[in-house]
Amino acid sequence: MATIGILGLQGAISEHVKQIEATGQKAVIVKQVDQLAELDGLILPGGESTTMRKLMDRYGFIEPILQFAKQGKPIFGTCAGMVLLAKKVIGSDTAHLKLIDIEVERNAFGRQRESFEVNIDIKNLEQPFKAIFIRAPNGERAGKDVEVLADFEGKIVCARQKNILVSAFHPELTNDIRILEQFIDMVEESLKTGV
Ligand code: GLN
Repeated sequence: MATIGILGLQGAISEHVKQIEATGQKAVIVKQVDQLAELDGLILPGGESTTMRKLMDRYGFIEPILQFAKQGKPIFGTCAGMVLLAKKVIGSDTAHLKLIDIEVERNAFGRQRESFEVNIDIKNLEQPFKAIFIRAPNGERAGKDVEVLADFEGKIVCARQKNILVSAFHPELTNDIRILEQFIDMVEESLKTGV
């Protein structure tokens, strides 16, 4: 069984816990840096990226999360988590963790579509996935090392670069565990290779 942490400073935390448990893995809500040591993978949830960043600074999470990624341990960012992981946030001087080579635009799907659901095709999944977008960011550009797993209306909404996975939508708000299972596969792979 793998141990998956959810950064528990702000945002949609309990939904991830439920979904992780539904895959048979152990979920841990992470509120302190020293908890990172017991994890095999980490989820940065949806919420408000600016607030989450402030709290990450306050509790000293930035450097330890960068170290966690450097060890090859997988990180999955959903929505605000995708913003936190992106190399560049359009219109802002400060990006956050810069662990995936994509440029994102925050709250990008327009006011009348602040929140919507749509079935999208995701690479490696046979059937479409019901994607729930809530004031979602979109990925405008991706570097050559990034594998785009899904796009919607020409925007990147799910992508992977090595041990980093991001989705602009909220898989944890559905009963569909297929994307989380892909993340668990990444975690199991990293455990096997001993990183
Ligand atoms: N718009 C939010 C942000 O940029 C993300 C919204 C969400 O996580 N549902 O932080």
